[in-house]
Amino acid sequence: MAAIRTLLVANRGEVALRVVRACKELGIRSVAVFSEADRDSLHARMADQAVCVGPAPSSASYLNMPNIISAALTSGADAVHPGYGFLAENAAFARACADSGLVFVGPSADAIERMGDKAVARSTMMAAGVPCVPGSDGIVETAEEALAFAREVGFPVLIKASAGGGGKGMRVAADESELVHNFTAAKTEAAAAFGNDEVYLEKYLSRPRHIEIQVLADTHGNAIYLYERDCSVQRRHQKLIEEAPSPALSEELRAAMGEAALKAVRAVDYVNAGTVEFLLDTDGSFFFMEMNTRVQVEHPVTEQITGVDIIKEQIRIAAGDRMTHASQDSVTLRGHAIEFRINAEDPIHNFRPHPGMVECFNPPGGFGVRVDSHVYGGYMVPPYYDSLLAKLIVWGETRDEAVARARRALDEFIVVGIPTTIPFHQFVVEEPHFVKAEVYTDYVEQHVDQAALNAFVIDGSRPEEGHDV
Ligand code: ADP
Repeated sequence: MAAIRTLLVANRGEVALRVVRACKELGIRSVAVFSEADRDSLHARMADQAVCVGPAPSSASYLNMPNIISAALTSGADAVHPGYGFLAENAAFARACADSGLVFVGPSADAIERMGDKAVARSTMMAAGVPCVPGSDGIVETAEEALAFAREVGFPVLIKASAGGGGKGMRVAADESELVHNFTAAKTEAAAAFGNDEVYLEKYLSRPRHIEIQVLADTHGNAIYLYERDCSVQRRHQKLIEEAPSPALSEELRAAMGEAALKAVRAVDYVNAGTVEFLLDTDGSFFFMEMNTRVQVEHPVTEQITGVDIIKEQIRIAAGDRMTHASQDSVTLRGHAIEFRINAEDPIHNFRPHPGMVECFNPPGGFGVRVDSHVYGGYMVPPYYDSLLAKLIVWGETRDEAVARARRALDEFIVVGIPTTIPFHQFVVEEPHFVKAEVYTDYVEQHVDQAALNAFVIDGSRPEEGHDV
């Protein structure tokens, strides 16, 4: 890796640690950045060097481009990995890195721009011959235009913010009056959340699965897909459990979706890791939704079934090297992996974020279990950032084995001090529809009854205490 000797990680939490770990294995010096609230965070402790880039609020630290660039320059970094979130899909940041002579570990600023605007991404994909969810022709300016679209495709329809992300900036409308009302609300919301009030419309599919394809492309003209992830277990359009491969795909469908994802790669001359997201309808038809031009939270499930280290491939590609798995034939699928997002959220109180002191942290272990986390006993979860504490990834030869392993790993996982989503996952891995893999994006609404979940959380699942002998 001649071209990259020192790499700065422009992120925090588990993903920053994930990148630091990849650097260590590649023999690259790592530089962490941290905010004043993250001084004691593991990512800062484990990197070879750590630089404070500002006060706690992310706008002043993890989103502070000048500070991050100067941290990279003063620490002698020659590359920057953005992780996910924060500046990962910010074309201006990718450009600023390049202008400062730093290698940005990701796609070109141009590709980020074209895929970052959802409406532009849709038209790019349609031109490339990839099916998209029936939608408006670009941005919709007025409620009248929205009504005309809905009358054409039929209700329900979905209003989406062009700049939206992370499950935010979406509103469903079931009929005309709801559409008129939600249209204005969606624009106001989008302006407040993303600084851009542009919205477009899509037909709302009633019971799709969320299937996404991981792609990798290098500067030597190689492009492959690392198969799919099924991320249908969501709450309010936010992913909670992801698995690979998808129990819903036949070999033919898997290949067809993989090829469609590669069309996206070719359409924008995409280089580095990316994810092409699709909705799969109950009749087997699939539609492009968006492309994420960065590594995803759920990338480990793909790593577990393919054996490909996605972060290391990203760094090799950015260094101008050939990726290790350069041909589709060199990637084989083995077994089944499931990821559970362990968030500092209270499942009894509407999944409200719950920062605070983690008094005890005992992650599970054993065969087929991986935990990616920046948390340790005595760690203070700051209130400023997202609530992801850890990712539990289980692998099994079959899906049934992975589910059984998940049950025992979740039982072993102990977090004391703050509520987490662990009991939610314990509930789901026993729930018959999940066990049978009958999971659509409305799974949580349909099958996770709040009262039953509350009872489950309150009773707990710890074993009865025995008597000493
Ligand atoms: P974000 O960028 O905010 O993650 P996405 O476009 O990826 O937004 O959509 C997130 C989720 O919203 C999807 O996984 C799916 O559950 C739901 N969704 C998005 N578009 C549609 C649609 N047209 N019909 C039904 N559900 C949709």
